[in-house]
Amino acid sequence: MSPAYPKLFTPIRVGHLELANRVLMGSMHTGLEDIPGLARLAAFLGARARGGAALLVTGGFSPIAAGRLKDGAASFDAPEQVADHRRVTQAVHEGGGRVLLQVLHAGRYGYHADIVAPSAIKAPIAPTVPREMTAADIEDTIAAFAATASLAKQAGYDGVEIMGSEGYLLTQFLAPRTNHRSDEWGGSPANRMRFPLEVVRAVRAAAGPDFVIMFRISVLDLVEGAPEPAETLAFARELEAAGVEVLNSGIGWHEAPVPTIAQAVPPAAFARETARFKAALSIPLVASNRINMPEIAEAVLAAGQADMVSMARPFLADADFVAKAGAGRADTINICIACNQSCLDHYFTGKVTSCLVNPVACFETELVLAPAARPKKIAVVGAGPGGLAAADAAQRRGHAVTLFEAAGEIGGQFNLAKRIPGKAVFADTLLYFRPPLAEAGVEVRLGVRAEAKDLIAEGFDAVVLATGITPRRPNFPGIDGANVTSYVDVLSGRVKPEGRVVIIGGGGIAFDTALYLLEAGDASFTDADAFRTTWIEPAKIDAPPVGGPGTSPGVTMVQRSQGAMGRSLGKSTGWIHRAALRRHGVRQVTGAAYERIDDAGLHIVVEGKAECLAADWIVVCAGQEPQADLAAPLAAAGIPVHRIGGAKAASGLDAAQAIREGVELASNL
Ligand code: FAD
Ligand code: NAP
Ligand code: SF4
Repeated sequence: MSPAYPKLFTPIRVGHLELANRVLMGSMHTGLEDIPGLARLAAFLGARARGGAALLVTGGFSPIAAGRLKDGAASFDAPEQVADHRRVTQAVHEGGGRVLLQVLHAGRYGYHADIVAPSAIKAPIAPTVPREMTAADIEDTIAAFAATASLAKQAGYDGVEIMGSEGYLLTQFLAPRTNHRSDEWGGSPANRMRFPLEVVRAVRAAAGPDFVIMFRISVLDLVEGAPEPAETLAFARELEAAGVEVLNSGIGWHEAPVPTIAQAVPPAAFARETARFKAALSIPLVASNRINMPEIAEAVLAAGQADMVSMARPFLADADFVAKAGAGRADTINICIACNQSCLDHYFTGKVTSCLVNPVACFETELVLAPAARPKKIAVVGAGPGGLAAADAAQRRGHAVTLFEAAGEIGGQFNLAKRIPGKAVFADTLLYFRPPLAEAGVEVRLGVRAEAKDLIAEGFDAVVLATGITPRRPNFPGIDGANVTSYVDVLSGRVKPEGRVVIIGGGGIAFDTALYLLEAGDASFTDADAFRTTWIEPAKIDAPPVGGPGTSPGVTMVQRSQGAMGRSLGKSTGWIHRAALRRHGVRQVTGAAYERIDDAGLHIVVEGKAECLAADWIVVCAGQEPQADLAAPLAAAGIPVHRIGGAKAASGLDAAQAIREGVELASNL
């Protein structure tokens, strides 16, 4: 038992399994499920089992073609697939973990032509109207779940997780919103829960005893037309009676207009929803969502809200999360910052998932940090995310690394990002880098602006330029006025704009700066009750701001290009930022030409019409230019120079790219 986290490391029995700790690695669709052979999935999950996760769940595998998430997505419905899956179970078992296969039928959420659902009602987030399932389809699908469970047992899985939340097929049967049937599979609560219960019974009958059935239930739906809470409680009791041995929590349908895992959600904000089921059931309950640190997990367990905690993305960020917590080295855990940029957003755009803070995740067999054949003396210039990642990875390979940082602290732009509401967790990424740099002997020179002549004089074998960016300064009359400032000055606290603010730019930093001006200190990012008031209470989400749209007394945003602002924001999170600014009544002006700035404000022309955007302050968020002045003199001196992150290219740059480039470069140095 870990003295720091006694509850987390108290063993627990789940079905026939004795688990050494109470951490479940939750299911994630990584894209590795769809790669033939499943060797990469085995490597990914095996690493997490070696890292101490007691029970792991694979990404979703459909039991039948109609249930696939998209064309080409994984199903597990044929005996010849068993050998591939054995690779997965063997890797996890050799790593000391136990593994469940997630069986998922997407129903109307599928992204392909042949989708089915209880009723022919299109999902707001899917392109296709589903075909209404016939009674025969329903019986076939139940049989398919059972057959997949049987194949899973043959492949060595310790059980299955039946996906019954998030708005997928089983949820669609449960909810009046999506189930308009009048036969025995729809109508009354008992009829609507018949399909998922029959699935569970069939799986138990096919797989027999000593095979865990976990069910992921929707403890909170966050959509209209969902089952009543009392109905869901009754359903949970029925699940237990039908043979379910552990109940995992699902929060919100994918179409729900409420953030459920993004930075806007406070830590463990939904554990209370899981706790509602405690008194009604005797099987273990698993809490989920926004649990990303061992102390948060411990607090959920200590409060008696659940018997286990599920973490998914934290295992992308750090395969050794559990082992580090157990060894009292939580300070060395690479924390998931809930950005969704390299996981969910990758999946949604058809790429294999990875992780912004850990680009090795899901690339275990591709991005390998093997010991260097010939250790070198390497200078890394700039301790932003890219430089930190490069220095860390290079020293892990055995190189002698000196890291130069002009500022008095490591972090680069993350020191600005961490001030944005919801992004305080970015500070944890910086904390993560401290122990490995210090303990492995990287020489960190803070407050030192590296110069070419000094780098040349010190005789480095190679220089990694991670010197980041310079904020772009547009050039038009008045831009140097006393009422004009940049996001750097605002976010670093040097300038505190008061009164009416106009933001030049509509990109990620402009959105963040607006949120900083409007929501700094907002309790909804840290307090579950405040979050509920902001996001969940009826009519809050799309409620017009006081005074009507575009009437924020504080902030106006403006950009030159046409079309909606914020198109560069992440697919899975951009809508949250747009909704927040809408709620504040921020006016967004697009298609503007900048004329001049004077004491009255920013003068623009839109569609030939002149307008003055009245402002006390104008904050420039007009993009960034690469900063790589050292490259030419170093190259002229014959020193190999490698540019990464902002120093290489600023357009479209984000931290994921900077960190990935740092690690990829270090793997080849
Ligand atoms: P930087 O972070 O710019 O770091 C460069 C470092 O080099 C600086 O510390 C600088 O002082 C140092 N340096 C420069 N010259 C020298 C020299 N000669 N000697 C020594 N040191 C030197 N990205 C995301 O992915 N997701 C987000 O949510 C996100 N939010 C953001 C919010 C804000 C408000 C801002 C400003 C940025 C945000 N970003 C975000 C962008 C992200 O921070 C950058 O893409 C990332 O920091 C770039 O990393 P880098 O290592 O290339 O450079
Ligand atoms: P950006 O997203 O590229 O946006 C730059 C903005 O500046 C655009 O709205 C652009 O609009 C405007 N602009 C460009 N050139 C201009 C000029 N010459 N004069 C006036 N306006 C100009 O860049 P950013 O906001 O600076 O962000 C930098 C990077 O950080 C981004 O690539 C982003 O990935 C990352 N970031 C990510 C997040 C996140 O949440 N994921 C948050 C913050 C930052 P017009 O050209 O239409 O005027
Ligand atoms: Fe977490 Fe971001 Fe990594 Fe996804 S990409 S696992 S949200 S840190």
